[in-house]
Amino acid sequence: MKYIFLAASLSVLSALAPAHAEDQVVNLYSARHYQTDDALYNNFTKTTGIKVNRIEGKDDALLQRIVNEGENSPADVFITVDASRLEKADKLGLFAKVDSEVLNSRIPAHLRTDDWFAFSKRARVIIYNKKTVKPEQVQNYEDLASPDLKGKVCTRSGSHPYNLSLGAAMIERIGAEATEAWARGLVANFARQPKGGDTDQIRAVAAGECGVALANSYYYARLLNSDKPEDQAVIEAVGLVWPNQDNAGTHINVSGGGMLKHAPHPATAKAFLEYLASDEAQRYFADGNNEWPVVESVKVDNPALAKMGEFKADEQSIGGLAKATTEAQKIYDRAGYR
Ligand code: FE
Repeated sequence: MKYIFLAASLSVLSALAPAHAEDQVVNLYSARHYQTDDALYNNFTKTTGIKVNRIEGKDDALLQRIVNEGENSPADVFITVDASRLEKADKLGLFAKVDSEVLNSRIPAHLRTDDWFAFSKRARVIIYNKKTVKPEQVQNYEDLASPDLKGKVCTRSGSHPYNLSLGAAMIERIGAEATEAWARGLVANFARQPKGGDTDQIRAVAAGECGVALANSYYYARLLNSDKPEDQAVIEAVGLVWPNQDNAGTHINVSGGGMLKHAPHPATAKAFLEYLASDEAQRYFADGNNEWPVVESVKVDNPALAKMGEFKADEQSIGGLAKATTEAQKIYDRAGYR
């Protein structure tokens, strides 16, 4: 009985207030798509009554679309992965400043900018072949340029955002000159020309084609959580190093997003961003891709992440390092890291 009453009163409400009901939407352009994101958006709608219209696409296509739509863009919020991509949107002037006490208090200062916010964290880790490389040889990103790893190093393309962000982080940490020397050493150590994604590098390390590779932590976690025998065999053959534990800490990257400058629904956009920082959303958003929440008090219940354990993360400003990605690209070009 209660049910029917609720349904009836809702339909009366929407019939009486169509204009208001129309305002209760947020238009989300997302370059991040995982199954658990559905539950995330449904819960937001359930809690707030705000409907989420989602348009998913590839980063560059979505950015181009927002640029082309200009002032008439229906997009309220843009979500993507990797700081260098968020920086790209920022550089195009697409974001609006969001002043939110909720976001400022829940997201650590180094994981937000005036324009965009990180909502989950991933680490760029070193994966080595247990038979051909000793973990002592690969304790730092810098070690990947060491001559004793000649013919052993594999990575995906140097122009991929994940590697650009790492280069940017290196520039911020050790300077442009040292980063260029490092990139040259890395290229000199390649087992093969960069190709494939991070998972391909991990598999190539397991197969012995590469001795050591760079990969984002969630790709390793995905293999760790997999019950396929071939994935378990990969995990058996490789080891993981959290780089730079005795100094700055491991390079951290993020998934994140922000409100767009021409957002037609700034109030619901802000509510949506604040929701992403809530305990519940933090768990869904991070766990869905085997990442870590940015809100420090929130813990995910993820067997792979638990197995991977604790590590020291570099607490560089994510917005600051993102600004160095253009320089990282120039350095990689000069070093022949393609
Ligand atoms: Fe990825």
